[in-house]
Amino acid sequence: MAAWLMIAVEERKRAGDGYDDDPSRHYSWDERVPNAAAVAVGDVIALWDTKTLLGVSVIEAIESGSGIKNVRSCPFCGTANVARRKTMTPDYKCWKCKAEFDEPITTQVQVKTYRSRHEAAWIELRGSIAGGELRQLCEKPGSQLSLRRLRWEDFRERIEKGKTPIPLDILDKTHEVIAGGHRKASVRVRVGQPAFREALLTTFGEVCAFTGPTPAPALEAAHLYSYATTGKHHRGGGLLLRRDVHRLFDLGLIAVNPKTHTLDVAATLAAYPHYAQFHGKPLYVRTTVDHINWLTKHWDMHRPSSQPFS
Ligand SMILES: [Zn+2]
Repeated sequence: MAAWLMIAVEERKRAGDGYDDDPSRHYSWDERVPNAAAVAVGDVIALWDTKTLLGVSVIEAIESGSGIKNVRSCPFCGTANVARRKTMTPDYKCWKCKAEFDEPITTQVQVKTYRSRHEAAWIELRGSIAGGELRQLCEKPGSQLSLRRLRWEDFRERIEKGKTPIPLDILDKTHEVIAGGHRKASVRVRVGQPAFREALLTTFGEVCAFTGPTPAPALEAAHLYSYATTGKHHRGGGLLLRRDVHRLFDLGLIAVNPKTHTLDVAATLAAYPHYAQFHGKPLYVRTTVDHINWLTKHWDMHRPSSQPFS
């Protein structure tokens, strides 16, 4: 799989380049960025803010359009894309002729724009790998580009076998769905809207469906989201889950066996007694047909080798 490390957010907003990033959902670039046209649907996208990794996903779609971009060029030799210096004055130095100046020549050019959609597979990894180490995981560690090629296998190993391992099978499943070689939808567990959460609190009270009584501020409303060719939310049969449990469930580290209606805690959590104790235990709430339907989809995705209904 091709994988890209892309610079996101604050830095770019401050620079006033007009990008509207929400790292968990979409990312914008334009044709003047090196590698602009090489990025493809189905590729892995990892976003960072130069200090830390933010998260990783698979590109579902790339929308293209056109826009206006300010290009700053050197008033002495005309070289384009001169960058503002952070700490030194004058503010600009031409990387080509080495001239120093306060104001570049700014021209507006029409550019082809690109915008990725990658919400379905997004895994939040904020703070898990520092900028320096991320650079080393790129094909060219010395690169200054905003779109860099990642060494995918090495990056993957670092995430899956690091100090706090995070499984990346959601990326594989989503990649397969996008590539068309997989019939089953990729499924995610999403946080529901406040009204949905209120309704669940009225129904179930202050109870985490998997772990029992829990104060309301620590409870999230979970519902299923499936991605085939279009994202689709399944609101029926939502559950209240403790925040940490919700995260583990979304990553497939906790699942519900749809045949026995009991919790299945991944072997990788065996070292954590607090979570391991829930293995084989029944749920704390009465489940509906809707619940079982969507828990089955989740099970099929995360426990493919132990299909209870096959
Ligand atoms: Zn110059």
